Amino acid sequence: VSSLLTRSRTFKVLVIGDSGVGKTCLTHRLCAGQFLSRPEATIGVDFRERMLDIDGEKIKLQLWDTAGQERFRKSMVQHYYRNVHAVLFLYDVSCPASFNSLASWIEEFRQHSLGQEIPRFLVGNKSDLRDLSRANDQVSQERAMSFAKAHSMMFFETSAKNPPNKHINRQQGDGQAPYQQDK
Ligand code: GDP
Ligand code: MG
Repeated sequence: VSSLLTRSRTFKVLVIGDSGVGKTCLTHRLCAGQFLSRPEATIGVDFRERMLDIDGEKIKLQLWDTAGQERFRKSMVQHYYRNVHAVLFLYDVSCPASFNSLASWIEEFRQHSLGQEIPRFLVGNKSDLRDLSRANDQVSQERAMSFAKAHSMMFFETSAKNPPNKHINRQQGDGQAPYQQDK
């Protein structure tokens, strides 16, 4: 029984997106509270965990990071998509190609999630690189918001490198602040 209870409090969250968008850095930031300046290329699948205290209940947040290599995907994909509680579709705000790839990531996810209603988030990483003078080479918030709406996702931007202060302020006190460990 106790192992069942423990398992029921583990939340498995997938982080999906093109290579280089910052999946490894973001999961490291969320779980270790630091920017990983020289991430090693992810081989196969990797996960990191973080304990959260939500209303006095201990929750284990398990963030799954993947390299997305074809060979890995064929053998591991079923395991990877099993018992998922939420998905983050990650792109790099300074790299429109990574945004354009999302449709195929979403389609792959759809094929494996077998119609389950899993909360999905569109996450624009590297917001620290947003440069208004180069707006044409970047993914605007407006574009991302309408994409999120069309795919029934929540949307936010973030940075594994320099977490925006507003996130810390907005989420303080609810036990879920992604950057709490920076304090
Ligand atoms: P992955 O392939 O999706 O796992 O991407 P990585 O986490 O390995 O990151 C790829 C590159 O982007 C690395 O050089 C990181 O230092 C850089 N990077 C990741 N997140 C950020 C961010 O929020 N801001 C900036 N400026 N660079 C980032
Ligand atoms: Mg990686």
